[in-house]
Amino acid sequence: MDKAVQLNGLSRPELVAFVETLGEPAYRGRQLFGALQHRRLRSFDEITDLPKDLRARLNEIGTATTLKVESRYISDDGTRRYLMKTHDNLPVETVFIPEERRDTICFSSQSGCPLQCTFCLTAQLGLLRSLTAGEIVEQIQIALNDAYGTGIKPPRGTNLVAMGAGEPLLNLDELLKALRVMADPQGMHIVPNRVTVSTAGVVPRILELATISDRPHLAISLAAPSDDLRNELMPINKRWPIDELLSACKIFEKTLKPNDRLTFEYVMLDGVNDSDEQARQLANLLNRHNIKSKVNLIPHNPADPLPYRPSTDQTVERFKNILESKGIHTYVRRPRGRDIFAACGQLAARQVTLNSRNETLVGA
Ligand code: SAH
Repeated sequence: MDKAVQLNGLSRPELVAFVETLGEPAYRGRQLFGALQHRRLRSFDEITDLPKDLRARLNEIGTATTLKVESRYISDDGTRRYLMKTHDNLPVETVFIPEERRDTICFSSQSGCPLQCTFCLTAQLGLLRSLTAGEIVEQIQIALNDAYGTGIKPPRGTNLVAMGAGEPLLNLDELLKALRVMADPQGMHIVPNRVTVSTAGVVPRILELATISDRPHLAISLAAPSDDLRNELMPINKRWPIDELLSACKIFEKTLKPNDRLTFEYVMLDGVNDSDEQARQLANLLNRHNIKSKVNLIPHNPADPLPYRPSTDQTVERFKNILESKGIHTYVRRPRGRDIFAACGQLAARQVTLNSRNETLVGA
């Protein structure tokens, strides 16, 4: 299994080169790419327009799928969470969030996470390992096939957010590979402009991302307006403190397209980071760095072992008003899928009690 090539993680030119090493003509590679990426087929045996002997050889040396869906949970609000396992038995979670005009798929970049953010449940898993490009691509295929049927074109646009488990900028190479595969018009055709990568602030990788022309949008998880508090909540801040982080953001900002803004995410923790004074501090900080940005306030999604409560609606509203009074574009994010542990910071491979609308899928 470890030696098998994950064909889902290969771009069209790479698949062409791959089939050529098997002595097959280039068009077989393009055919295979269309079957895996456009028709989202999950096994070589289903690609009946390929010759039988080629399918048999592919089965010997490669894999069309590596993730297995263990459980699927459907929230009252329509959000779906998939708990999957890698071939080496590590948890991977993906969340499908239907909205009126588009669907958003929140995918994981790592199994577990090495960062120790105190408000996030995923942190408690630690890092199990980074995911491969194929494992990233597969998460999106599994969600789309489940929502619409194998290979059916989604009726709405698909947005992707790298906000599941893991720190995407600690797995940037595989992530960018996956994004290249998914952007292909002969495949899923989900272009980088529809993708947002969220980071806790890996400064060198932010600078690297800024140099890439066809890159995804960037969101920065801030969570605190001062180093003292951010050191406590997000220990990565000790390595790259706020001023260094925002200086990198300023460099990134110079590469933004005219209507684009950098997003700052701010998880709202009752009595910890949600005072009026902290709102003013945050506004001053962002204004001082003068970055074309917006702030998303995310009410904390509680989970048993986490020592926090979400800020009240009134506090969130006040916080928003203070930021706006100082010229900061501010939005409040509505949590989705909290009841099935699908919301931000709740992904920790949890099995929840199944009800009649939820089912456990074995080997789907
Ligand atoms: N490691 C990346 C991506 C994963 S976290 C990052 O830090 O950005 C995605 C978002 O969820 C981050 O903005 C994070 O601050 C937020 N988050 C984490 N735990 C949360 C929780 N319990 N409630 C609400 N948001 C949370």
